[in-house]
Amino acid sequence: MAKITPSIDTIAIHGGRHSDPTTGAVLTPICQSTTYAQNTLGAEVPFTYSRADNPTVAALEEALGALEEAPQALAFSSGMAAITTLCLGLLKAGDHVIIGDPVYGGTVRLANTVLEPLGVDVSFVDAAEPSAVGLALKPNTRLVLLESPANPTLRLADIAGTAQICQTAGVPLAVDNTFLTAVGQQPLELGAQVSVYSTTKYIEGHNATIGGALVTRDEELRAKLHTIRKTLGNIQAPWDAWLTLRGLTTLPLRLERHSRNAALVARWLQEQPGVSLVRHPDLPLFSQRDLARRQQSLGGGLVAFSLTGGLEAGRRLLGGVKLCTLAENLGAAETLITHPASMTHADVPVEQRREAGISDGLIRLSVGLEEPADIIADLAAALRKIEEVCHA
Ligand code: PLP
Repeated sequence: MAKITPSIDTIAIHGGRHSDPTTGAVLTPICQSTTYAQNTLGAEVPFTYSRADNPTVAALEEALGALEEAPQALAFSSGMAAITTLCLGLLKAGDHVIIGDPVYGGTVRLANTVLEPLGVDVSFVDAAEPSAVGLALKPNTRLVLLESPANPTLRLADIAGTAQICQTAGVPLAVDNTFLTAVGQQPLELGAQVSVYSTTKYIEGHNATIGGALVTRDEELRAKLHTIRKTLGNIQAPWDAWLTLRGLTTLPLRLERHSRNAALVARWLQEQPGVSLVRHPDLPLFSQRDLARRQQSLGGGLVAFSLTGGLEAGRRLLGGVKLCTLAENLGAAETLITHPASMTHADVPVEQRREAGISDGLIRLSVGLEEPADIIADLAAALRKIEEVCHA
């Protein structure tokens, strides 16, 4: 009989969930216990101590793995905890790592303040063209870590092209898939060894938890990363894992709506006189539209744009919006607006920011689930005020 593969919508709801054998509860129970009784010494038991594994966290991990046809994922206390664990698992003093440029500012900080002082050689490379990664490879390269779409400019990395180059060189490729999740993009299918997540964003989706995850089909690598997590003690807490699992239930629905709303807002922004550059993968003029179509099934909920009035106009816009909230996070129901140069990417050296296209006037909009006309009305009112000041 042909195997029935459930769709991603179904896996998001049922993956990792098994009705509780004692009560029949449909929702996965929250298991706060630190430790688990062992009937006999040396017996194989699934859980011993919640720094190593926990039943609620395991349910989330099973679900996140299932979304990418991978074994149980590893869940962490934050996205940065996941990325740090990945780096400590694959890199040691004398090794070289290639990191995509741009990337989230915290990943740059990890490279500059933790990896380099430990003796790891770091190269930041614009990975839109896989050949650039190929040229940056060194005999001691042990990891390539890309983000696509990248925070905050939405620059795309060619995942399949880079995976081929990495495979030939025998170097693992990890892709931070936080902006699209497994619902919008499947890095492992495109040839990457590891999918990386800040679950803080779309996966949990309600601005209620900080969390991270690593997903891989490589059992040996998973075991190594599990040992490091157990040693560092950066596993996600059960309550946060439960909230993340609950958020995951509606991820496909939410991401589709986020993407639709973002495309609408981006199209509107493009037509506004004070707006100089708008980036969203669904815009006809998006410079990497073909690549987006090849590797993404959704455009995603983020829009990047600049104002012709530069930083000063940006400051006025951020101060003038009412529905859109000026805040650092992204991927939740509320529309959040961010100034990367002074917020999420403030620790990225100015020169590197400029080279990566993170100008002082760049604004990142995480388009939420509100009625798009209301989001547009809020932005329109703030833009109108800027015009009035300029022409006063
Ligand atoms: N990766 C990306 C693409 C991010 O945007 C972020 C945070 O903004 C992180 C990783 C880090 O995640 P966390 O804030 O959960 O540590």
